[in-house]
Amino acid sequence: MSNTATIKPCPLAKKCGGCQLQNMLYDEQLAFKQHKCKRLLGRYGKVSPILSMEDPTHYRCKVQAAFAYDYRHRRLLSGVYQSNSHRVVPVNDCLIENRRADEIIVTIRKLARSFKLQAYDEDSKRGFLRHVQVRVGYNTGEIMVVIVSGKPMFSSKRNFVKALLKECPDITTVVHNVNPYHTNLVLGPKNEVLFGKGYIEDELCGCTFRISPGSFYQVNPQQTEVLYNTAMDFAGLTGEETFFDAYCGTGTIGLIAATRGAKRVIGVELNKTAVRDAKSNARRNDIENAEFYAGDASRFITEMAEAGEQVDVIMMDPPRAGSTEEFLSAVCKMAPPTVVYVSCNPETLARDLKYLTTHGYIAKKVQPVDMFPFTEHCECVVKLSRG
Ligand code: SAH
Repeated sequence: MSNTATIKPCPLAKKCGGCQLQNMLYDEQLAFKQHKCKRLLGRYGKVSPILSMEDPTHYRCKVQAAFAYDYRHRRLLSGVYQSNSHRVVPVNDCLIENRRADEIIVTIRKLARSFKLQAYDEDSKRGFLRHVQVRVGYNTGEIMVVIVSGKPMFSSKRNFVKALLKECPDITTVVHNVNPYHTNLVLGPKNEVLFGKGYIEDELCGCTFRISPGSFYQVNPQQTEVLYNTAMDFAGLTGEETFFDAYCGTGTIGLIAATRGAKRVIGVELNKTAVRDAKSNARRNDIENAEFYAGDASRFITEMAEAGEQVDVIMMDPPRAGSTEEFLSAVCKMAPPTVVYVSCNPETLARDLKYLTTHGYIAKKVQPVDMFPFTEHCECVVKLSRG
């Protein structure tokens, strides 16, 4: 698809609110993001042209649908929450979601109606079905379905799964997750595997990764390869480096670094399930020089700095809120020659760059990558060197 192609407007754009840049051509979206990165980050270094997608549609390989009961039409609905509310807007297909995942969710809704599964009601705490999450391995085709309920009792589960697999034989695993809490999180802490191995695998940059229901995994695998390749290029590995992967998730960046010249990899991540995935990902890829630890990244790096440990490259990929002053001050104390910052929020990135550049680092390269077409979100990779 050409970058100027017109895309049919989404009828739900206003209600859903997920695609803030819906009304722009793809080229205009790219210009908007380039401008935003330049405005926020330009004072720290030259911002390279954003790396775009050839086809910016249907890139999301993780799709979640909320379920609710429509009293007016007396039937079960699935879709997205209307922005700033808990009203479900029905969705059958979406411009940015994986097509097969959307089809599977429609099938699940149909089956749920015929099995008379009730939607869970947060206020009365009655009913059963809250969400369905579908994850598709972009390069493996493996498909995981997670059925999230508000109550643990799933009496028809055997027949339900049987019927689902009959309609969608390409599903490789089905998990039942229980989330009885009143939170914004889709998944609760408990998983029961109903079919298959309970996770899927995907391949990125020549490595194979396990994705469990609760683990973070980039939603746009095609652009993730572009992002990780940029991060590796900025890390400048030669075969001798100790590589610290902070906020490492399932270890993706660190493990790719291990196959591309890092001598030793140390990863830290808060989410215990993700750390377990990272360790098994190391074994799965026959990587023996990578260690992963569960814990708070700021605390972990502060202890490393206080113990006088040295690393050559710090790779940091924090969540939207960015890093902390504690973390950044430990980075400056350890003073590795290279820091690579991967960020999904240019605002917090700008704040953190201000700290790093006033404490001895220079931003050498700033590379935006379009990971989330049609949304306002911008991903950036920054290479920092000791000034
Ligand atoms: N680098 C990984 C994950 C990036 S997402 C990848 O590319 O897949 C950010 C990660 O930071 C998430 O996995 C989240 O669980 C983790 N995280 C959030 N707060 C943290 C903290 N205080 N300490 C360590 N990890 C944290």
